[in-house]
Amino acid sequence: MGSTRQSRRFAGEMTVIVLLGAPGAGKGTQAAILTDRLGIPHVATGDLFRAAVRDGSAIGLEARRHMERGHLVPDEITIGMLLARLEAPDAIDGAILDGFPRNRPQAEALDAALADRGSQVDRALHIQVPLDELVRRLSGRWICRDAGHVYHEESNPPRVSGVCDLDGSPLIQRDDDRPETIRVRLTGQLDSLAQVVDHYRETGVLRDIDGLRPIDAITHELLADVAELPGAGVQPW
Ligand SMILES: [Zn+2]
Repeated sequence: MGSTRQSRRFAGEMTVIVLLGAPGAGKGTQAAILTDRLGIPHVATGDLFRAAVRDGSAIGLEARRHMERGHLVPDEITIGMLLARLEAPDAIDGAILDGFPRNRPQAEALDAALADRGSQVDRALHIQVPLDELVRRLSGRWICRDAGHVYHEESNPPRVSGVCDLDGSPLIQRDDDRPETIRVRLTGQLDSLAQVVDHYRETGVLRDIDGLRPIDAITHELLADVAELPGAGVQPW
């Protein structure tokens, strides 16, 4: 019976990991590696919304109605989508959640919804990077005036400073990419993140990881934290 299978699946055998970190903390990079090593899917809320809207599912249509009015999608809709995603065959051993929860009420609502199904967040992995470093990482983006070709001061600099390699037009920085704009935006996001971090610290599942180290070192620590969990299977490379 389907219900038997479902209750067994939610009976604590699956490993639910929440990945936390500000934009620029390297969460996406680590999520991709963890998915590979743990053999469980990376479930990003933004991807779920896009897929649900694209597929025209009932929940996707409802989410779209809110987005079209410029409203946030209500938490119960987001949680409903997450729970449905956790029932997919590829998530039978668990999932890495990314992009939700974003504040304390959402974290509490997610805990309650998982508890109803005999499950829980097993680990909240928090990749910590100081604000100044996040601003530095995110603010190096420049685009060319004529065609919008994209450059980055550190990862993809132009051959001649301030000039597009392809068409010679001057490089400009959009308001959204200026350090002062990014700092203001991040400050609000870090406040919400701190609420979620505090929540999981209180429930005892939080692990803080120093995000200033090389990617490999961060991966190693994340995997060590997850390997403590019963039922978590780390695949050898
Ligand atoms: Zn150009």
